[in-house]
Amino acid sequence: MENSRKKIVIVGGGFGGIELAKKLKNTNVDVLILDKHNYHTFQPLLYQVATGGLEADSIAFPIRKIFKGQKNFKFRVTEVQKIDTEKNRLNTTIGNIDYDYLVIATGSTSNFFGQSEIEYNAMPMKSIPEALNLRSMILQNLEAALIAETPEQEAALLNFVVVGGGPTGVETAGAIAELKKHVLRNDYPELDLKKVNIYLVEGSPALLSAMSVQAQEKSRQFLEEMGVTVYTETRVQSYDGKTLVLGEGKQIHSSTVIWSAGVKGAIIEGLNPDAIVRGNRIKVDVTNKVEGYENIFAIGDVAAMITDQTPNGHPGVAPAAIQQGKQLAQNLLAILENKPTKAFEYFDKGSMATVGRNRAVVDIKKVRFQGVFAWFAWMFVHLMTLVGFRNKLVVFVNWVWSYFSYDRGTRLIIRPYKKKNLENTSNDI
Ligand SMILES: Cc1cc2nc3c(=O)[nH]c(=O)nc-3n(C[C@H](O)[C@H](O)[C@H](O)COP(=O)(O)OP(=O)(O)OC[C@H]3O[C@@H](n4cnc5c(N)ncnc54)[C@H](O)[C@@H]3O)c2cc1C
Repeated sequence: MENSRKKIVIVGGGFGGIELAKKLKNTNVDVLILDKHNYHTFQPLLYQVATGGLEADSIAFPIRKIFKGQKNFKFRVTEVQKIDTEKNRLNTTIGNIDYDYLVIATGSTSNFFGQSEIEYNAMPMKSIPEALNLRSMILQNLEAALIAETPEQEAALLNFVVVGGGPTGVETAGAIAELKKHVLRNDYPELDLKKVNIYLVEGSPALLSAMSVQAQEKSRQFLEEMGVTVYTETRVQSYDGKTLVLGEGKQIHSSTVIWSAGVKGAIIEGLNPDAIVRGNRIKVDVTNKVEGYENIFAIGDVAAMITDQTPNGHPGVAPAAIQQGKQLAQNLLAILENKPTKAFEYFDKGSMATVGRNRAVVDIKKVRFQGVFAWFAWMFVHLMTLVGFRNKLVVFVNWVWSYFSYDRGTRLIIRPYKKKNLENTSNDI
């Protein structure tokens, strides 16, 4: 007798994939998550790992543990390389895997807009290995600055540049400024702190362009108070690993350029090219079904649900991925029971960004606030959304410790950073 249970394969154990699989618990389907990592990453706190504020383990959670006891769930660590839509089959690094329904929840990857020299020389921060690379590099450069042979070398090692004035760029620049103010003084007494410079470079006229004008202005004010030099309406022209060339002839000599200037969908080869739209995202209908297919869906950052209300798709944020995962679980079950599906409706919970101790900005619909209360709100929301009680506790204890001690605990070069060979410039780790 033919097995009537359908197999739903989800590629990606991020915010969307995890939520979808959870909502399929105790249903009459088999669920398989495939991910190249065996853990879920809480990306909003990656910058704290990169700047020595949190240990990497506290923002990662083993995917198998999330689904402990879920009988219809399986997980495999593998990278999906290609979709064979004719055969309903995935080509992966551990062999072929067949599906009845496929959900692509692969998130996004850093976008260097085709500038391979910048891609090779600048540091992305989209995954835990990348954040750890960055932590090592920042610390290695500080060590190297102490033994620099020329003033030019020393200046480049002590100039830290963050490119991209969205929440990640603002938060990273703020965290490096705090590192300089509270930590370097004690750890590197020989360093002349006046020589340590932090720059934030943004192409558009304002920081946090998706937020209110109050949040934009206040975040800039906070950063400048903390000693960050902010350049807006300034585009990066080139970066050869030593000199960052900006528009209007500006140049910054820097060994550390952190790239948070854009993302693109982490698509998998094999879909009809017509289904791929702006930003390398996959075009889906209001039920997250990929255009041109009946049994392939996409959710989260990689999906572009283009409607009159959302001409650019939904924002690439965790709540959009989670809500799409939740809704798609209901729709997949409805499809299997020949019931009508429901159109996805995004509930915008607002946006927030933290700049540093006691300094954050929050927009919740028409309610906007900045400063200490916003900072507590930011911490509360991030603690609550972290996966796992242990992680919540570890992060909470770390934050309380840092608040009172002015210290950042994990300044370790455990795996020294080495630049990749030129042939292998892919940053997707
Ligand atoms: C530094 C940073 C800060 C952020 N801060 C915030 C914030 O404060 N608030 C907010 O709401 N959002 C924030 N975001 C955005 C948020 O993290 C994303 O919107 C969210 O993670 C998208 O969820 P997702 O499920 O689509 O993908 P992800 O959570 O990115 O998960 C994708 C998963 O797919 C896996 N994968 C990808 N390709 C393959 C493949 N070919 N084979 C196997 N596995 C694959 C990856 O390993 C990953 O586990 C931030 C993002 C970054 C990078």
